[in-house]
This record gives sequence, structure tokens and C-alpha cells, in this order.
Amino acid sequence: MNKEKTLDYYRKIGLKCGLEIHKRLDTKKLFCNCSTNMCGKRCGSITRKMNLSVGEMGEADETAKKEVEKEKIFEYVCFEGETCLVDIDEEPPHSMNKEALDIVLDLCLKFDCCIFDNIYVMRKTVLDGSNTSGFQRTAIVGTDGKAYPLKEKNRAITIDSLCIEEESAQIEKDDGRKRTYLLNRLGIPLVEITTGAFFATPMEVKEIALYLGMFLNSTEKVKRGIGTIRQDVNISIKGGARVEIKGMQDVRQMDKMIELEIQRQLSLIEIKEKLKNKKIIIRDMFEATSFFSNTKSAIFAGKESYGISIKEFAGFFAKNLNNVRTLGNEIAKIACVGTNVKGIIHTDEDLKRYRLHDEFEQIRKQLKIGNDDLIICVATDKKKAVRVFEHLKARILMLKKGIPKETRACLPNNDSVYMRLIAGAKRMYPETDIPKMHISKEHLKNRKKNLFETYEERKELYTKKMNVTGEFANQLINLKMNRLFDEVLKSSSLKKAGNEVAKSVISHAEILEKMQTNHGIETTAKCFGECFAALKSNVITKQGAGIFLAEKLKNPDAESGRIIKERGIEKLDKKKLTELIEKAKRKSKTQNIKEIIRFIESSHKNQIDKKELIEVLRE
Ligand SMILES: [Zn+2]
Repeated sequence: MNKEKTLDYYRKIGLKCGLEIHKRLDTKKLFCNCSTNMCGKRCGSITRKMNLSVGEMGEADETAKKEVEKEKIFEYVCFEGETCLVDIDEEPPHSMNKEALDIVLDLCLKFDCCIFDNIYVMRKTVLDGSNTSGFQRTAIVGTDGKAYPLKEKNRAITIDSLCIEEESAQIEKDDGRKRTYLLNRLGIPLVEITTGAFFATPMEVKEIALYLGMFLNSTEKVKRGIGTIRQDVNISIKGGARVEIKGMQDVRQMDKMIELEIQRQLSLIEIKEKLKNKKIIIRDMFEATSFFSNTKSAIFAGKESYGISIKEFAGFFAKNLNNVRTLGNEIAKIACVGTNVKGIIHTDEDLKRYRLHDEFEQIRKQLKIGNDDLIICVATDKKKAVRVFEHLKARILMLKKGIPKETRACLPNNDSVYMRLIAGAKRMYPETDIPKMHISKEHLKNRKKNLFETYEERKELYTKKMNVTGEFANQLINLKMNRLFDEVLKSSSLKKAGNEVAKSVISHAEILEKMQTNHGIETTAKCFGECFAALKSNVITKQGAGIFLAEKLKNPDAESGRIIKERGIEKLDKKKLTELIEKAKRKSKTQNIKEIIRFIESSHKNQIDKKELIEVLRE
């Protein structure tokens, strides 16, 4: 990719991006009291079929209709402690979880949003079965906020809205007829952040997404780890259209994904220009079965097949939209998504690779199709072929108009494929089972008093007030038990040793995290303090400290001196080291420094500081 691209370049092509972030909150479920830990045992399942009246169908969008057309059976798996009557839609939802709402209110306050006096829960129709009730509940909490994710503070981005909504059930499997959903995920509270469209380079968009992710983490009340966050991006350029890309697995790849989408849109604009004065003539469908009667290609062998040809269109399908995708790939995929038919082959492909070269030549010759014409064939029955070519024709004719607004799915290689056209905003209906929630001025005032600090603010505190270097400060704020550091530093004797304490907390992060989960922050801070004191006064070594903390994890009340004695981790002083070296030399009959060190380490690894040992050896 061209590294020379500058801010000016992206400004010139009119790049505009927007982010939509969904993050799970670490509370009970939004409308019932079920746990959201997703570790309960399976306890049976229920089976449902979606029955919708015509009236309801009229309100559903196209995608939703298609799901219902399939007449699917939905199986819902229940989990101990994580599913109740609300989750299977046998009981009305309870009022909204206040803790979850408070998290979103805090975020609104931090982003300086306008907060609604009353929160109304609304229903968004979902007919794919991912919610047992047939709709998703959502409520807007605040609008018109601001965030400052880029270092230069004057480039703010707008936060269009902050919503609270319920997570959908997770698909476990789908055999075409029956789809199985897991109900433990259904109803987990989500915060949805929607930014306004902003101008930024792809690298900066990634920075903004990372910043917003960190911002959410700094509440310390959101779920962490894989799958707990979804970051969708809207991308458009001048002359292009808003394209929404979903399902990005790794936000660190976001800049690459945006680059590929920019290339795709630029290429489509170029193709549109090329087709400006050209009439696209797509000829009628023909049956092609007989041409493939002796084929060696598994795609066509023994199958019914059909084709079309497009006048003077050879070469267009071979055009690269970006580094990884041709126009042919793009359009074939759209027909696949619309019809579920695979194996669309055209003459702009390397037909020899498919062992189909001779067959297509025969078609060209016998049907008198010109050498400049493009031939497309598909192996399927007539009814499906008609639909495949309908989709293909529609998309090919669309090339003259420009770029369709669509939703695309991100692929592992950062490219994306067509999912569906962007439908108009889904209509919402009031949720009549849940009363509105009033947000009093008093309540907001109280929230403001104890508002969380963002990582940025914490980092500033660590570096400016606690003498921690930037590198350690960054690592500290990313730790799960980052408050431990603050707690430890409360002790007056350690106030000035900020950086050393930080380093030590970071290197024992794993064990301290467990300790904090099991014994609480105060006990953990006390144990760490004892360990750090022993380390500082040269009673134990760094390795010894690990063993010391492991013992404290088992029994936080164990007396320090006893642990050191019983576990044999007392640090060896110079005199003892000299004795050991002499002994090692005698026993191993060598003067080789490395071998002596190895010999000593084999029995006293946890009691020696290697640097010191080498120093003594050199003397
Ligand atoms: Zn429940």
C-alpha cells in the first residue's frame, strides 16, 4: 500500500467515516435478574416457529422477510442461572437494570451529551429468531456528545447517540431447516455508541476506534475479552456511497480494511466513468447443459446449467476493485447471497484453471457470441438460474449509476463481501410492557460526583503525580486490577517509589489479579506491600517474590518471615555466594563461568540475583 498518502490525499477523495460500537456491560441482564457470566450449565431447550401476521410482515424489512420465507424452526437452549421466563418470552420484561443504565449515564456525562429526562424503551423488529420476542429492545439515553480521541484536542468528533439495548441470542448451528440459538447471551445489556461522520485518515479512524474502546474499558464496568465488543465502520468517499462494514474481528486491522474499501469505491467510480457512454446489452438466458456433457469440471459435471452473454463487456469482470477482489468476484458474490447458488463462472476468469476453457469456446462458437462479449454460466436448475441472472443483471446495470449503499461483512484478509443493501432506518415501536424511566437532576448530580476517570486522565495522574514512566503507565491502565497500584501507593512509605512499584505490580500481574479476585483489593495491597518491602530490603529476590506471592495467594494471613524460611527463598548475600562459588568449582571441577552459574542455579535459583552472582564471580 502506498505509504505516501497524506491527510491531503484523503481530504481530496472526500473520505468520511463513522463508527458504531456495541459493548457488553458487566451487570445482570437488562430486563431480568439473570447472570451474564455465560458459564452456566445447559438445562434443556425449547422449540418455536415464527408466526407472523401480514400486518407485522408489512412492517418488517426485506432481509427480515426473507428469513421468515424460509419457514425456519428455531431451537432455544437454556442455561442454569442464565435464562428465565423473560428470556423465553413467557413473562413480561422487568424494569430496566439500574446499574446498567447508570453506566450509560456516566458515559453520557463524560461525553457531555444531552441526556433525556425520560428514557423510553422501544422495540426494533427482528425476525431472524435471534430474539424470542421477535424484537430487540433499545432505548436512547443521550445525544450530541463530543469526544477528543485524536491527540490534537481541537479535532473533536461528535457522539450522535448513546443507547442502551439488549444483546441477541447467539447462533450455535443452522442446518438449513432448524437454527439453534443459545439464550445465555440474550438480554445482556449493551451500550451502543454512534459517532457522527468525520474526516480522518484510515490510521486515525483506527486510533479513534481504539480510543473509544479504551474509554469504555475505563468505566471498569464493561465485559472484557473476545466477543464483548463489536465495531462497525461506515465509509464513504466523494462520488461514492455510505457503505457499512460489519464483523471486524481485530480493530488493529481497521486501517487496512478502510484502505481496501476506499480502493473498491474508487475503482467502481472509475468503472462508472468508463461505462458512461456505453449501452449495456445483456442477451437472454440460454440453456448450456449440453455444452458441459463431457466436462471434467466438478462444478458443471452432470448438472443442469444456464448462461447469458453481455455485448462488448469482456475484460470488465477481470478489473481489480482492490488488491484482492475483481469486479467478477464482487458481482458473483452478490448473486450468491441473493440465491444461495454457488459456482458462477465467466470468461474473464482463468478458465483453464477450472478445466472449462474448451466448453466456453464451444458456447462462443456455436451461439455466435462475439470475442469481445462476456459469457457467464451457472450450474443450477432453471428456476434458480433465472434468479441468479436477475441479480447479476441488476448489479451490472447499477455499475452505470455508481456505488450502491450496502452493508458488507469483513473478511479475515480485511477485504469485505456484500451482505445486503442498507435498508432505511428500522421503524421502532414503544415497548408497552416497560414504564418510562425518569432521570432526575438529583441523580445526575450524584453520578457526576463519582464519575470514573478515563485512562487518559489516569495516565496523566500516574506520570505527573506518581512518578511512573509513560511506558509503565500504559501497561498499568491496561491491567484488570489496575486500581491495586493506587491502593498500594496509599502507603506513605511507598509514595516516592511509584515507578518501582509499578514495575513490580506489572511483573506479578497474573498472580495479583487472582489474589484480588479471591481476597479483595485491600488484602492484596497489604500482601504486595510486604512482598515489596522484603524485595527492597534484599531479603528475597525477584524470583523469590513470585513464590512469596503464590504462598500469600493461598493464605494471605501467613507470616512473611515464616514463608521465606519455609519456602527457602531467603536471598543469599555476598559471603554466601562466595562460599557457593568455591563449592561449585570444587564439585564440578571447572573454571568456566557459565557452567558454574548453571551449577549454582540448579539448586539455588530462587535465592540468587544473577547480576550479583556474576559480579562476585568476576571478583
Ligand atoms: Zn432472565
